[in-house]
This record gives sequence, C-alpha cells and structure tokens, in this order.
Amino acid sequence: MANANDGSCGTCAHFGDGVPAEQLVQIRVHSADDAGVIGGCDHPSNAALHLKVSPISSCDGYTPLEAA
Ligand code: SF4
Repeated sequence: MANANDGSCGTCAHFGDGVPAEQLVQIRVHSADDAGVIGGCDHPSNAALHLKVSPISSCDGYTPLEAA
C-alpha cells in the first residue's frame, strides 16, 4: 500500500470531491492510498478541467489541510 505523504493529494485541502466523507477522513487521517480511490480536485486552476486524482498524485497547487 502506498502512502499519501505530505505534498500529495491525499493530504491536500483541494482533494476529495466525490469521495464519500468517511472514506476521505480515513485517507486524511491514515495518509493511505485507499485501494485506488479517485477524487476530484477543486483547486481553482484544476476545477474547470474536472481533474480527477488519486491520493498519491500531486501538483504545485498543493495546500496542506491545516492551511485551508
Ligand atoms: S492536484 Fe494539486 S491541488 Fe489538486 S488535490 Fe492534488 S495536490 Fe491538491
């Protein structure tokens, strides 16, 4: 199982559109790549593209949950 370390979508404030709330909490708390989950990214630069990412994806728009 891969980990969603800091800097990856799983711990980013923009990740999770379409992911069930309970599953999203598990991904954030345990920093785990939950069986290939794919969620939407609502970062202003990505939202219009309807970007879908996994918890272990990343981009330069990463925003730590604590900063949101
Ligand atoms: S693609 Fe970038 S902005 Fe979107 S959730 Fe992942 S790290 Fe965050």
